[in-house]
Amino acid sequence: MNRIITAKFGGTSLADASQIKKVAAIIKSNPERRYVIASAPGKRFSDDIKITDMLYTCHKQNEDGKDFSVTLKRISERYADIIHELGIEFDIDSEIKAIEKNIIAGVSSDYPASRGEYINSKIIAKFLGWPFVDASEIIFFTDKGVLDESKTFTKAGERLLALEHAVIPGFYGSLPDGSIKTFSRGGSDVTGSIIARSVNADLYENWTDVSGMLSADPRIVKSPKVIENITYTELRELSYMGASVLHEDAVFPVRKAGIPINIRNTNSPDDNGTMIAASLPKDIKRSAVTGIAGRKGFTSIRVEKSMMNGESGFGARLLYIFSDNGVPFEHCPTGIDTISVVVNSAMFESKREDILRSIKNELNPDYITIEKNLAAIAVVGEGMISTKGTAAKLFKALADAGINIRMIDQGSDELNIIVGVDEGDYEKAIRALYDAMTD
Ligand code: ASP
Repeated sequence: MNRIITAKFGGTSLADASQIKKVAAIIKSNPERRYVIASAPGKRFSDDIKITDMLYTCHKQNEDGKDFSVTLKRISERYADIIHELGIEFDIDSEIKAIEKNIIAGVSSDYPASRGEYINSKIIAKFLGWPFVDASEIIFFTDKGVLDESKTFTKAGERLLALEHAVIPGFYGSLPDGSIKTFSRGGSDVTGSIIARSVNADLYENWTDVSGMLSADPRIVKSPKVIENITYTELRELSYMGASVLHEDAVFPVRKAGIPINIRNTNSPDDNGTMIAASLPKDIKRSAVTGIAGRKGFTSIRVEKSMMNGESGFGARLLYIFSDNGVPFEHCPTGIDTISVVVNSAMFESKREDILRSIKNELNPDYITIEKNLAAIAVVGEGMISTKGTAAKLFKALADAGINIRMIDQGSDELNIIVGVDEGDYEKAIRALYDAMTD
C-alpha cells in the first residue's frame, strides 16, 4: 500500500503567486502528497492585511451601514494578481459578486470569512490540475456548532479516497441547514487534521513559515533550537503555556488515530522541521528537556488553616468557590496546612471581592495571602522523569541567576515542572533555564 500524506499550507505559504509556485513544487515533488488543504492568502509583509481579515471587515462595514466596496475591491485585486501571475483562467469577478450579494442579503460573518480559503483552493486546484472538493460537502457540524466527527470522517474519507488527489479549503464546514460555519481563527490546521484522519493518512504535514517549533520564545532567547521530535502531550503543555505553532484543536483528530504531524517550512523545504507523535523515537539522543515556555499575568491565592489536612473536602470547597465565580484555576500546589490556587489575574480581579468573601465565610481560614504579578514558566520534557538531577539543575539555574522562586508545581504526569517567578524576572528566568536545561 502506498503511503498517504495530507499537506496543509498556511496563509504565508500561499500569500502570493510566487509562494503558490513554491507550494506546487513541494506538492509535486512527492506523489504521496495526495490531499492538500489550503488557507486564505495571508500577509506578504509584516504590515500587510490577511484576506480573511479583509473579508471580516467587509461584513462589519455592511453591518455598520457602511459601503464595503473598496475593501472588496482590494480582495479582488489580490486574487487577480495571483491569477495573472500563475497564468491560469479564473473568473474572479463572479466569485466576488457572489460574496457581495450574500453579505448584502445578511449572511453571518462565517460565510464571507470562509471565502478566502474557498477561492484560494479553487485557484490552487486549477494551477495543479487537481480536483477541488468543497469543505462544506465533507466537513459537518451539528446544529449546536460542534464538529460531527463520525459523519465527517466517514463522508470525507469516502469522497476523498475515491480521488487520486484533491485540494480542500481549510477553516470551515457546513451546518445541518447547509450554511457555512468556520472554526476559530487559524482553523485550517484543524481541517488538515480532520482530513488526515478521514483518509487515514500516514502523515499530516503542516507547512508554515518557520522550520518547526522552537524550544523557547525567540523574542527572549537568541536563536533557540528547533525541536526535532516532540510528543502530542509535550506539545499540549508547551502550547498551553504560550508556545504556539499549531491551532490547539488540531492535535485531537490525528492523535486519536496515531497519525504524526510534521511542521515544515515552505521557504526552506529541505529542513526536517518538527515531528509530533505519540512517543519519541527510541534511537535518538536528546536532552531531557524538550522546551520551555511561560506566561505572565497570574495571581496566587494562598489559604492557610491549621489542621486543614484533617478537614475533608477543604480543597474541593475552595476550588468550587473559584468555579462558581467563573474563574478556572491553572495550578493548585498544596502543603500540609496550606493550599494555593493560581489563577489568571484579570479574571480574579473581576471577582476578587466575591471570592474572598466566600472563602472567609465558608472555610474560615487562618490567613489568606494574595500574591500578584506572577509569571509561570513550564519546563517540559518526557525525559525528565528518567533523568536524575533535572530538578536540581533547574533550581540551581534560577538561584545562580538570583531569581526568587515563588511557586513550584510538578505536573502529575511528571512531564513538566512549573515555577512561578515575579513578572519582572520572567525573561531572565527563561534565559537562565534555557542555558542550563537544554543542550
Ligand atoms: N484564514 C483563517 C484565519 O486567518 C484560517 C487559517 O488561516 O487557518 O484565521
